[in-house]
Amino acid sequence: MTSILGIGECMIELSGAGPDLWQQRFSGDVFNALWYARAYSEPDAEIGFHTALGEDPLSDQLLAFAKSGGINCDDTPRIADRRPGLYAIHLNGAERSFTYWRDTSAARMMVRQPGQLWQKVAAADVVYFSGITLAILPPDDLGELLTGLVQHKKQGAVLAFDPNIRPHLWSDKTRMLDMISKAAAISDLVLPSFDDETSAFGDATPEISARRYESLGARHVVVKNGPADTVHLADGSLTRFSVAPVQNVIDTTAAGDSFNGAYVASLMRGLPVDEAIRTAQGCAGQVIGHKGAIIPLAELVV
Ligand code: ADP
Repeated sequence: MTSILGIGECMIELSGAGPDLWQQRFSGDVFNALWYARAYSEPDAEIGFHTALGEDPLSDQLLAFAKSGGINCDDTPRIADRRPGLYAIHLNGAERSFTYWRDTSAARMMVRQPGQLWQKVAAADVVYFSGITLAILPPDDLGELLTGLVQHKKQGAVLAFDPNIRPHLWSDKTRMLDMISKAAAISDLVLPSFDDETSAFGDATPEISARRYESLGARHVVVKNGPADTVHLADGSLTRFSVAPVQNVIDTTAAGDSFNGAYVASLMRGLPVDEAIRTAQGCAGQVIGHKGAIIPLAELVV
């Protein structure tokens, strides 16, 4: 039996469902990846999520939703005076914009009030986290997370990191680049998206992004690039994988997250890299043909 532990924030998502009507869902980058990791894993694989939540009814609903997707949140720290983060999606034609209420979310406390975090890290075969996980933590807690991951992870376990660079979540660009690089340097598998990398680091090509992370210490890097080739780097060798066209792109939310979840799960099942990449691209291809981040498990073709 294998186990994947994700560390991050899941928020309440509000999207317009008609005049003066909001639809409520739950979403967050690491959580989305776990949702798809669950779908592409062996049934007996353990998929766990470490976050922090409040004691309010929405926190209860979020936990119930995670459970419905087969994601174990049994030891989630519950913080009495905090609540889950919230965001609303605004549609202006096909353009989407977001308003966030996450500055004081409970998830920001997930390292300071760790509950069973380190025991969970020590038990996992894959520990998955992202640049968003880093961005929401208070500075000292971020340092503690990176040190703790190295200290507690099981021998042979894979630290998987998606830089998911979101400048608006960081107050200082230099620190952002430094922290993303530090996290990548302790990781075994780095899963960046080229859009983010070129904007933040100025990389001219996905290969340059892959080599940059390799030079920091990552042995295995997969650079996603929307409909353009996915670039894979392992043990020094670069390979490009073309992406099958998707006819009806409806909403690209969670394309990268779903790719990551399906990729990690496929590797854990023992699939060779080329099949794992194709599987991950296939999963992301379904996600972008669907509105929202999460496809109900019953509708996903695995
Ligand atoms: P992110 O959501 O992190 O920005 P990308 O946009 O790079 O990530 O997309 C992740 C993956 O989703 C790609 O590697 C590809 O497999 C798939 N994908 C994204 N956009 C398209 C598209 N327009 N057509 C086909 N596949 C796509």
